[in-house]
Amino acid sequence: MMLDHVLGCKVSEGLPAIVTTPRLEGIMRPMPADRHIHGGEDATGRYAPSPTGTLHLGNLRTALLAWLFARSQGARFLMRIDDLDRQRVRPGIAEQQLADLAALGLDWDGPVVRQSARTEHHAAAIARLEADGALYPCFCTRAEIRHAASAPHGAHPDGSYPGTCRELTRAERAARDAAGRPPALRLRAGAARVAFTDRLLGPREGVVDDLVVRRNDGVAAYNLAVVVDDTAAGVGEVVRGADLIETTPRQLHVAARLGMPTPRYTHVPLVLGADGARLAKRHGAVTLAGRVAAGQSPLEVRAALARSVGLAAPRELPTLDELLHRFDPSVLPTEPTVL
Ligand SMILES: [Zn+2]
Repeated sequence: MMLDHVLGCKVSEGLPAIVTTPRLEGIMRPMPADRHIHGGEDATGRYAPSPTGTLHLGNLRTALLAWLFARSQGARFLMRIDDLDRQRVRPGIAEQQLADLAALGLDWDGPVVRQSARTEHHAAAIARLEADGALYPCFCTRAEIRHAASAPHGAHPDGSYPGTCRELTRAERAARDAAGRPPALRLRAGAARVAFTDRLLGPREGVVDDLVVRRNDGVAAYNLAVVVDDTAAGVGEVVRGADLIETTPRQLHVAARLGMPTPRYTHVPLVLGADGARLAKRHGAVTLAGRVAAGQSPLEVRAALARSVGLAAPRELPTLDELLHRFDPSVLPTEPTVL
């Protein structure tokens, strides 16, 4: 039923499609009747920053575009703070990020959701995969994976997990457990090929390795948490930076394994510094606060972001209504741009 939904409905509309190995179809769960099913018309959008640093102009432009995609279709726009990585979260940053987005005039529906408040939902999804026999413990350190992944290993792309712990015997697992390092949990992905159609970038496909769904510190992995949380919120269209497109086949695969509907994906171009490198502090005033300190108003910053994707003329300060009226995904750039 899931495949029927995806292949029968979404491919014909140019939306994400999933190509699976035959082995996967046997494990796939039917779509639960109580879940929200996305039609092509459901454009509920979201922005989900990680509170690890101040938003730079590229992040702000992605947020503006995500807002424009949703609001121009009359859809809801949601805000989520992806704060599961406690090592990297910095206090006060989430509030500053929300203030920056509000200063640009962006609004969102309902309360801001913190991913860290949804851990029981992540755990429930992991438990379902575990009950299906789809998970196995992985004791590898990062260094071990880097070393093993540098050797060629069949269908998997470079750098993916080579399957070191997939077929450990009971005795080998017990020995590693006794060594004291808690394992991560990985999903048996069976090197599934996943294809989808990005709204801006067109057809894409990738091979899914045995990705981590629960890290060895017990926290749900990003690729699992975003699928669970987007589904629960009824997100129908994920608009995010092009640097995340590599994660999309994994997330589509996780959604399929959980019997969850898949959103449409739109990966928008990154903003580069004048030297062609990804925007960073060394490029000068790359944050809203930095631009304001240099004499620009938030509206001028918003206009500059809009201008960089062809939505505003030089020296023009368009309102959000004007931006909504002239917004047209088909004329957005697909290559990184210098701001
Ligand atoms: Zn391993």
